[in-house]
Amino acid sequence: MHAYEVKDITLAPYGLEKIDWAYRNMPVLRAIEAELIEKQPFKGHKIAVSVHVEAKTACLARALARGGAEVALTGCNPLSTQDDVAAALAAGGMMSVYAVHGDTEEEYFGRLKKTLAFGPDIVIDDGGDLALLLHSKLKDLAKNVIGGCEETTTGVHRLEILKKEGKLAYPVVAVNDARCKHLFDNRFGTGQSVWTAIMATTNLVVAGKTVVVAGYGMCGRGVAMRAKGLGARVIVTEIDPVKACEALMEGYTVMTMDEAAPLGDCFVTVTGCKDVITEKHFLNMKDGAICCNAGHFDCEVSIKDLKRIAVSDSELRHNVVGYKLENGKTVCVIAEGRLVNLASGDGHPVEIMDMSFALQAQSAMYIATQNARLPIDVYQTPEEIDNRVAEILLATKKINIDILTDEQKKYISSWEF
Ligand code: NAD
Ligand code: SAH
Repeated sequence: MHAYEVKDITLAPYGLEKIDWAYRNMPVLRAIEAELIEKQPFKGHKIAVSVHVEAKTACLARALARGGAEVALTGCNPLSTQDDVAAALAAGGMMSVYAVHGDTEEEYFGRLKKTLAFGPDIVIDDGGDLALLLHSKLKDLAKNVIGGCEETTTGVHRLEILKKEGKLAYPVVAVNDARCKHLFDNRFGTGQSVWTAIMATTNLVVAGKTVVVAGYGMCGRGVAMRAKGLGARVIVTEIDPVKACEALMEGYTVMTMDEAAPLGDCFVTVTGCKDVITEKHFLNMKDGAICCNAGHFDCEVSIKDLKRIAVSDSELRHNVVGYKLENGKTVCVIAEGRLVNLASGDGHPVEIMDMSFALQAQSAMYIATQNARLPIDVYQTPEEIDNRVAEILLATKKINIDILTDEQKKYISSWEF
């Protein structure tokens, strides 16, 4: 039996039902899992996983264990852990699980430390919190690590900074940067799951509202596109002039947050930056304006500012807190400004995480099957891994695509026409 810390182990049957549903709908990961079971590439390897403890993640963690790994799993956000899923994995006895919904910051990091305590040689991070510990308080454990995989944009960004400063302690595959990750997960996944979460949490209509999307990167494109599709008027704020032009050509109104603050009914930040919505914006907002964040940390919408300027606050609906300001208006915040789609929903749809986690499983296998430890660097996901995910997905849908003839190959690789 493996160690576990979960809220309530008797929730396991409910979690198992969720995992079974996800598994049925993850054909790409199932295909990779079949290979892992056959080849056992993780035999003798210890893998620490810090990813939202949710049904799709459970399928990834089980696939790694079935591929021979000793696995320890924890969350990557104190509010996204689903206690029934954590219970199902703990009861399944295939891995150690340290995850409880609603942890304080201290409890959350305590569980990350426990997850690393067995001395993993491969780490799978979503956002770089394991990496943070392995480069600070638990430096000694980094010596065991032959490689890591990073799931998200901000995590890759943090690793690139470590590399630039010459402090990166082990090689990492930037899974986020694979085409089958950011083109689908960040855009279509965030696009759908953010609106699913906002709609379910507020029970309000999107059509006819003015939605302000801060950040027009991969995620922002998806969030803005789906808001438009739901009938909203969409305003985009950006700091990158090219992305601002792209948003403009897509038909959105582009302006600064200062200008957008009094116009928006609903604000979604997806920048990976901090202080995108602050005191001066809150004070200018309409009564009842809704703010939420789908970017990395809970500092994009400054809850700190809001708490400081509010005369009172109260929970208006589950996961919606209303902050009453001195001017008599109320600003509503969903899920404490944490990732709205995961802290107030199931995160991305199953088929999206199927692609992302098929990349993760293969990237971990890539690390485990190298003859020698890769030199320390931040690596792109190998193209074959990326292509394989797309090929399996197309095959499950019985979709064929054209294949270049030899003549065509010659033509496109020549400069003489
Ligand atoms: P990205 O780099 O493609 O896009 C971020 C955009 O925000 C860029 O265009 C940048 O110019 C813009 N930006 C930065 N600071 C800004 C500011 N102060 N105001 C306005 N715009 C600003 O990144 P991405 O892949 O779209 O990811 C965005 C964030 O969302 C990251 O933190 C990432 O980790 C996170 N993420 C969340 C989910 C989710 O499930 N909610 C999924 C994937 C990524
Ligand atoms: N540690 C950060 C994590 C960023 S979350 C935090 O503070 O919350 C962004 C990542 O979550 C995305 O890259 C996406 O791949 C992942 N994600 C989205 N939905 C998910 C789901 N349902 N299950 C697991 N991971 C999910």
